[in-house]
Amino acid sequence: MAKYDNNFTDQLRERLSIVDVVSRRVPLVKKGQNYWGCCPFHNEKTPSFSVREDKGFYHCFGCGKHGDIISFTMEMEHVDFMTAIKELAEMAGIPLPEIKQKTKEQIEAEETYISIT
Ligand SMILES: [Zn+2]
Repeated sequence: MAKYDNNFTDQLRERLSIVDVVSRRVPLVKKGQNYWGCCPFHNEKTPSFSVREDKGFYHCFGCGKHGDIISFTMEMEHVDFMTAIKELAEMAGIPLPEIKQKTKEQIEAEETYISIT
């Protein structure tokens, strides 16, 4: 139970396709194995923003942005980690576990993890 944070984010990543999450904001076209769209994080006319559905992450070859469904939601909606989790949980139809104060460290660890990957 103490580890629910990591388990829960894994559950979200398993349940939600990154393509579904990203395509709510960015129109994507499938080319080969990847999905492509114009990067929402920098200005461009030729799509260099790629989404790997099998790996569950996006990568922009123009500006180098890289992340998963959680960091995408955080950056696109300018929300913090917990708000993003909550929103994705609603989207996935998974009830959000009760949040306890103690999990703040786990949240920070998770945020660090996202920014490294
Ligand atoms: Zn970009």
